Amino acid sequence: MQKILIIYTGGTIGMIKQNGVLVPFNIENLLSKIPLLSEFPAEIFTVSLDKPIDSSNANIDFWIKIVDIISINYENYDGFIILHGSDTMAYTASALSFMFANLTKPVILTGSQLPIGLIRTDGRENLIASLELACKTKNDEKALIQEVCIYFESKLFRGNRTTKYSAEKFDAFFSPNFPLLAKVGTKIDIKVENLLYPEKENIKIHKNFSSDIVILKLFPGISRNTVKAITEIPELKGIILETFGAGNAPEDILDFLKIAIDNGIIIFNVTQCMNGKVENIYAVGENLANIGVVSGKDITTEAALTKMMYLFGNNFSNNEIKKLLQQSLRGEIS
Ligand code: ASP
Repeated sequence: MQKILIIYTGGTIGMIKQNGVLVPFNIENLLSKIPLLSEFPAEIFTVSLDKPIDSSNANIDFWIKIVDIISINYENYDGFIILHGSDTMAYTASALSFMFANLTKPVILTGSQLPIGLIRTDGRENLIASLELACKTKNDEKALIQEVCIYFESKLFRGNRTTKYSAEKFDAFFSPNFPLLAKVGTKIDIKVENLLYPEKENIKIHKNFSSDIVILKLFPGISRNTVKAITEIPELKGIILETFGAGNAPEDILDFLKIAIDNGIIIFNVTQCMNGKVENIYAVGENLANIGVVSGKDITTEAALTKMMYLFGNNFSNNEIKKLLQQSLRGEIS
């Protein structure tokens, strides 16, 4: 029998209403709402963060707590399910994908849009299907899924390819530029050709993340002063520049971006569009490449941010960071 560890970090799935608003509650209450879990054909164990949170409060320390739980228990379990709020789940999934190198076991984040205590909850199916997916093995009995994923509303996604796009649909996540890893209906259809496997088997954990990064979302009419002030933030190491369309930016801010790059700040170009990629089609996009802005191709903002946090936290040189940003480290970029 497979041994799976469920890690409860908070989020709607385990919340209850207090004074009219939803607040995180405890794992015992959550599990009591799914009595059928005792019949699930695997050994299921649970652990909870001391203080479960609404995932809007997630930060680097919170990711490290999750990583610590998984690393302490890594050898003793066949897979890990992380119950997590959906609001920042794509960020946590992306961060964990960089924190774990050479993962050989499934780490599946899931949660729900309605608390598990409500009769119409989506949490029950999300949790049970995640457990089933985590238990899948290959012919050699090793885990079939060996990466950080998100499972939501019948779909298994590569975690660092997802983004939350709906605040109310059960179908809340979307993987704009990478196909599904599995689709769950009456049958579980795993798209084996899309799964990622590590080149080596010895897991490595990277907990040093830098927060000296900012996301600068462009908009028509953005003032030069705003851009200047952002590029002059003390200690700033990296800027995720959320550009228009295929990676385009207004010409009147180029001088400040160039000064920032000359001062050693790395600027990573990510499109604001929900789908598609940064490519030099237009002069206003090529301008950015010409001053040394790094193309983020089809990476999501969530993955771009956490990838920069990882690279700046781990003593790579600026030249190495520029190169690695454009390469796939955990399947996050095409
Ligand atoms: N605010 C909640 C959270 O992210 C939303 C959810 O779980 O769906 O913790």
